[in-house]
Amino acid sequence: MTRVFIGLGSNLDQPTQQLKKAITEFDHIPLTSVVQISPFYQTKPVGYLDQPDFVNAVIEVNTYLEPKELLAHMQLIEKQHGRIRTFQNAPRTLDLDLLAFEQLVYHDSELTLPHPRIQDRAFVLVPFNNIAPEFVIPTIGKVSELALQCQQDDMHIMEEPLV
Ligand code: AMP
Repeated sequence: MTRVFIGLGSNLDQPTQQLKKAITEFDHIPLTSVVQISPFYQTKPVGYLDQPDFVNAVIEVNTYLEPKELLAHMQLIEKQHGRIRTFQNAPRTLDLDLLAFEQLVYHDSELTLPHPRIQDRAFVLVPFNNIAPEFVIPTIGKVSELALQCQQDDMHIMEEPLV
């Protein structure tokens, strides 16, 4: 069994509902179960600024799947939520990122582990720190220390998730 962390984000079509539904769907992935859910945060867009605020969260999942099997299920969930890929940092109904697959370090054209853009993203590190401050992201560092270093002005907790 592998300990995995997933980042979730949405800023279209009732983002909170998108996240809640996606978390339920994770529990339906074979050989996989959701073990922890961070608070939901309202965050400002980065990169392309002229779009609605995001809702972000991080979940911890236990799985017996291989990384790419899990990624394929995640992409199916994104698709079911009507995700259409347009341009980088564009608004989206649901974005799922495989942040860390225990201590695995991996890179090819489909998958990079740990996720390459964790370091500078408060909308990932702050919720990650809520559920796993002690976790060491391979090659990057301890979540609690990374969270302390990041800029957190543009985000606040929305509500406790109901799932
Ligand atoms: P995005 O548009 O940000 O959702 O990026 C999706 C693309 O990133 C897909 O083509 C994935 O194959 C690729 N990718 C690489 N590493 C990861 C990862 N750790 N988690 C999710 N997607 C990844």
